[in-house]
Amino acid sequence: MIKFDRYKDGKRYALTFSYDDGCAQDRRLVELFNKYEMKATFNFNSRQINDYNNRCIHAEEIRPLFIEKGHEIACHTVTHPHLERMLIKDQYDEIMRDREALEKATGTIIRGLAYPFGTYGAETFTAMDTASIVYGRTVQSHNGFTLPDDFKLWHPTTHHNECENAVRRFIYNVTKAPWRAGGVLYIWGHSYEFDNAEAPVQWEKFEEILANLYQYRDGYWAATNLEIYDYVQAMKKIRRSADGKMLYNPTDIDVWVSYKDEPLKIGACQTVTVE
Ligand SMILES: [Zn+2]
Repeated sequence: MIKFDRYKDGKRYALTFSYDDGCAQDRRLVELFNKYEMKATFNFNSRQINDYNNRCIHAEEIRPLFIEKGHEIACHTVTHPHLERMLIKDQYDEIMRDREALEKATGTIIRGLAYPFGTYGAETFTAMDTASIVYGRTVQSHNGFTLPDDFKLWHPTTHHNECENAVRRFIYNVTKAPWRAGGVLYIWGHSYEFDNAEAPVQWEKFEEILANLYQYRDGYWAATNLEIYDYVQAMKKIRRSADGKMLYNPTDIDVWVSYKDEPLKIGACQTVTVE
């Protein structure tokens, strides 16, 4: 019996983060992610990266700070508007010009988006398709660990200020309930919020949370948003023979499935036969 319930390296769980606006505090936040071997996606407004009058992350910092450490940079539009209030061509411009600027700064192909203010309209999806953006992150927490059917409506598990309960449940599932279906803990926020003396989760508390998760790192895959998206797409492309015993992976990404409840790797461009 084959089950498509595993992530990279046969893990049943994955952990990802998404941080918006490219603010100065991202410099400190990314150090924490590096320290605890976690991967995150940082969503930038490209208007700011060439503005040296502000305290935001600047274009030439992006590669050494994020890309060279394995993190992802994604779009957050050029000027941070309410996309759904704009003409579709202007929505497209906001996304595509952001993509171009971020690709220049990162030397990577940018394929993700976090919606400014978390809002979007039906035409936003068309603008994203035209700009070759494959996923869009909202701000609607669902408190669960499931992935969306439609990645243009990728709802996170939780904002970091309310994440403690979800983190506890995630660790419980990873350690004590491997029979559960698995899933992804997805935490989002803005790094400047950690400076707010009124916030329930400030720097120290967040580091405690990451350190706690780090103890269970063998049980989850630490990935960027895009790595999870690409993995799921590769998994959907696995071809099976009529009797279900032959599995062919036509993609360039290694995929793991469960066979008799054990992880089974189907390497990129490989065929695996089971009994
Ligand atoms: Zn924002």
